[in-house]
Amino acid sequence: MSSSPPTPPAAPALLPRSEEELARLPASERIRYRLLDARCRHHANDNISAFVREGELDELKAEVQAKAQELLHALVIDTDSDHNTHGTAERLARMYIDEVFGGRYRPMPTVTEFPNAERLNELMIVGPITVRSACSHHLCPILGKVWVGLLPNEHSNLIGLSKYARICDWIMSRPQIQEEAVMMLANELQERVRPDGLAIVMEADHFCMHWRGVKDDESAMVNSVMRGAFLKDANLRREFLSLLARKQS
Ligand SMILES: [Zn+2]
Repeated sequence: MSSSPPTPPAAPALLPRSEEELARLPASERIRYRLLDARCRHHANDNISAFVREGELDELKAEVQAKAQELLHALVIDTDSDHNTHGTAERLARMYIDEVFGGRYRPMPTVTEFPNAERLNELMIVGPITVRSACSHHLCPILGKVWVGLLPNEHSNLIGLSKYARICDWIMSRPQIQEEAVMMLANELQERVRPDGLAIVMEADHFCMHWRGVKDDESAMVNSVMRGAFLKDANLRREFLSLLARKQS
């Protein structure tokens, strides 16, 4: 087997468009145009807020609502006389854009970092942080918990405890794959805090396993990321995992 990485597909050549031309397009096309123009990846779990202009989220919601209405129509649901589904398309659009996938459209929450004045260098554990996400495959809920272990050094930036939950929520509020979600969270925290060691454990329930498919009731999935000192030092890793087990019970 060859080990060379696959060559990325060539970016499509975009015709340059003026702001007036863009303004005539639906908001989703306008945003997509900017993303393609910047050759920016826009997978389900990517944040695209830098490409969304003021007022466009409302336009996007209207578009999603119209498409969701078509979906209900294709499912042969009479949303006119069925009062239960009358407002469903609008509710879906708001739920996706503002809430459950809001982490794609909102910028990163502001997080104040402060220097490690006390020169803390002991293992810190944050958690359990509640995780509410959705799987990219079925858009079914993923509900679970995350624990973060940090080994700061004198140059680390510290962030307030509640900020871990806010950053986590921002990353999880997107259609995700659990393995990628923990990596994204690790990258974000690594960049902000710059600790000597970082460990993340996520345990979550995947509702696409309960609700459909095998309908398995034992479907919790556990993932972890270990970096720096947690990778090199087996004692530190053990300490983190044993404290986590105690916090969990
Ligand atoms: Zn799924």
